[in-house]
Amino acid sequence: MFDQHLLQLNDSHLHIKFADIDELSYLFSGKLLLRSEIHLVEEHFQELVTSGCFTPIPSIKKKFFQPQCQRCGNAERSLFAAIPCQTCNKPHIYCRKCIEMGRVIECEPLYCWNGPMAKWQRHESPCSWDGQLTVDQQRAADRISQAIIKNEKEILVWAVCGAGKTEMLFPGITKALQLGKRICLATPRADVVRELLPRFQQAFSKISIQALYGGSEDRDATAQFIIATTHQLLRFQHAFDVMIIDEIDAFPYHADPSLPFAANRSIISTGTKIYLTATPRQKHRMKIASKKLPHIFVPLRFHGYPLPVPVFKMCPALRKDLEKNLPPMAFIRWLKKREHPDRQLLIFVPTIALAEKMKAKLIVLLLKDGFLKDDFDLVSVHASDQDREEKVNHFRQKKMSMLITTTILERGVTFPSVDVAVLDAGNRVFDEAALVQIAGRAGRSPKDPTGEVLFFHDGKTEAMVQAVKSIKAMNKRGGVG
Ligand SMILES: [Zn+2]
Ligand SMILES: [Zn+2]
Repeated sequence: MFDQHLLQLNDSHLHIKFADIDELSYLFSGKLLLRSEIHLVEEHFQELVTSGCFTPIPSIKKKFFQPQCQRCGNAERSLFAAIPCQTCNKPHIYCRKCIEMGRVIECEPLYCWNGPMAKWQRHESPCSWDGQLTVDQQRAADRISQAIIKNEKEILVWAVCGAGKTEMLFPGITKALQLGKRICLATPRADVVRELLPRFQQAFSKISIQALYGGSEDRDATAQFIIATTHQLLRFQHAFDVMIIDEIDAFPYHADPSLPFAANRSIISTGTKIYLTATPRQKHRMKIASKKLPHIFVPLRFHGYPLPVPVFKMCPALRKDLEKNLPPMAFIRWLKKREHPDRQLLIFVPTIALAEKMKAKLIVLLLKDGFLKDDFDLVSVHASDQDREEKVNHFRQKKMSMLITTTILERGVTFPSVDVAVLDAGNRVFDEAALVQIAGRAGRSPKDPTGEVLFFHDGKTEAMVQAVKSIKAMNKRGGVG
């Protein structure tokens, strides 16, 4: 395929040198882009269209007058709008669903690369990690490697919070790189991408790895190994041999159909999808039960200690306290008598407003009694917080002792030694999966493998009860419950 294209290019006397086309193949293989995302001068770009290297495809297709965006798969009428198009001097529809990645408008095509494909290197010994996997981790790692070697279509890895799933991926990724495959690890949140990148760079120090998320430094996505938010997959088509989808049950992957759509499109037809989850949703549990989806289960944390089981604390006056942005009294009482006051404290609340306002009240309350060093010893963080990355890093480096947060930190982010409190655990933002994930933040380190988890509530919910049930069930399966 490579040679044939070069011949064509030579025949048409294009001014593209071999080296150029080679470089272009790495830039554009496996991508699906708007013209504005292809940073080439118009003349050069047109040559590539004429020679068939770039193929335009309609960006919005209409089926029975129903539009469908070809980038994100959106077919919901209410998520299209019309604007007067300056190029064509008439109104044209565009997709509102994926607008944050640049506007897809019906009169501008998307371009996919049909030129020479990038040739990904085979690496003899790509892994520089010298750690040891536990027996459970090794079993899962072997199964993952097997799926990659045999080009199995998909496999789900169900591993409890703290099982060490990142390390379990190392042998499979090693195999993939030895076979010259291209890999993508997609995860719902930018925080997690930022946390994973240095870990993989350390474990695969000779491999070029790029991180893609809104506002990331790496933008051209030319690496053999990509770590990206699931949203970034909207720019890919038939790009990856191995697609690892982290936190398959998490919002937004679970709630936004355009993300599975993009994930399925970004993988080649013979590629392998590996789903990771600690808390599979009903849909996947049913597929596992009916053997439609192969899976491997890792019920035990890597350090061998059980998952902390949440304790419920009933607070009858919770509503009134929260209306005044006050923490429940039971929480303050518990906080002041914690068994391990040296542990950092992670406090979950249901809303951003509450996180902000309660922080102020808590600082006053706790400073007075000497439970905080100073005004900066307790910090709040939430999704729209510009300093989120910095605050999370500071907390990890133990520069402060308490962090009050929304569900944004429910998963993916690891702190070595924390107690966890959920204020208003009965709020519906805390579904079963969220509560299991939140509880899973505690006891992550072998040096401090336990941790207290408290759910403060004014009435048990089904989600709370199910979360505890499923944590206990996993401890039992792991032989530690
Ligand atoms: Zn779209
Ligand atoms: Zn137009």
